[in-house]
Amino acid sequence: MAKATGPVILVPLRLFLAGLMVICVQVQAGHGASTPGQPVKVVGARVAGDLVRTRFILDLEGQMDVAMSGLADPYRLILDLPEVGFSLPDDAGKEGRGLVSAWRYGLFAAGKSRIVIDVNEPVSIDKTFVLPAVDDQPARLVIDLVKTTRDDFLEFVRISREEMKQRNGGRKGDRLDAPEAKGDRPVIVLDPGHGGIDTGAEGIAGTLEKAVVLDFASILKRRLEETGRYSVHLTREDDTFIPLGKRVEIGHRLEADLFISIHADSVRRGRKVVRGATVYTLSEEASDDLAGELAESENMSDIIAGVELQDEPTEVTDILLDLARRETRNFSVHYARTLVSELKSAVKLINNPHRSAGFRVLKAHDVPSVLVELGYLSNEHDEKLLISDEWRDRMAGAIVASVDNFFRPRLARQQAEETQ
Ligand code: ZN
Repeated sequence: MAKATGPVILVPLRLFLAGLMVICVQVQAGHGASTPGQPVKVVGARVAGDLVRTRFILDLEGQMDVAMSGLADPYRLILDLPEVGFSLPDDAGKEGRGLVSAWRYGLFAAGKSRIVIDVNEPVSIDKTFVLPAVDDQPARLVIDLVKTTRDDFLEFVRISREEMKQRNGGRKGDRLDAPEAKGDRPVIVLDPGHGGIDTGAEGIAGTLEKAVVLDFASILKRRLEETGRYSVHLTREDDTFIPLGKRVEIGHRLEADLFISIHADSVRRGRKVVRGATVYTLSEEASDDLAGELAESENMSDIIAGVELQDEPTEVTDILLDLARRETRNFSVHYARTLVSELKSAVKLINNPHRSAGFRVLKAHDVPSVLVELGYLSNEHDEKLLISDEWRDRMAGAIVASVDNFFRPRLARQQAEETQ
């Protein structure tokens, strides 16, 4: 087989007035493996250089398009790829160099992977090129970053986001399936936090929040379904990123009667002693510092994944909507209390286990919503519990009991009607 020993392939660039670029790269990897349809892989990534010129390098196998765009406040570069496998070391991206402060990667949506590069000041892509695979070396995509002005960066953001929208034109994001006709059974939406490129917290022993909450949510779904009383949905069933707004929308579209967001976050250093399950509801003012900090870090999810922040919908001053919102809030608080009283006898709780803050994921005006911190991955005891089958079972059992208590009046009413 002929080895790819050709010269450096310069990527076709479209230069814009601002001197910045949006590129689409065809990486023809070597090893003769670049047959379309074959799985593509990112097998290495590193940052080199200094503050004058920082080089971001990806080792690739297979053939893929890489689209680059930017987002400001905070400054980020975003590389969108088809769904690829990442075989990178655990600590990849945690440390930056030069203009890059950190980067992360993962599945962004079905069929799409993404790399988000945090830069500590406005940058421009000075050049980018592909080195073909040689011998046992994979193909490399090289991106050179240099400093630029904020205005130039904002221009790049504007142009690149526009390009992105055109590229995705017609495909309006991931459409949500039309909800099935709502039956008699209460609808419960379980929302495992984070996912894909947003890994959430990481425990001392390496447990990832996005994985542990998905496992737990799947167990809880099964337990709730086994009762035969509920129709249960998950906002995500695999390691995919879901924007906060979409999670809320899923609850709304499914006309959920209860939305439970499931997390296992970390708290700031110095708070290592914080442990135990906590139930959060929505409030404008945080009930305490810990709740405020958590809501702030949870609300960062879209920034981490490089999603353009949608403006919060302007609060409509509609008296009916206000009433709905107030009623929903009352239901949320009522459920939170029911849940706390069930959890008390089953697992360790934090002191003041019902707290509140401005969590964006709890903002549906028509769906009673709570966020449960199963425990805190910043605490080694909690981390052990979170991965213990026995503890998960107990926790799931307590939540099922709380759901039963919450819906008991409604289920009893339905039963009475049926027997009439
Ligand atoms: Zn979380």
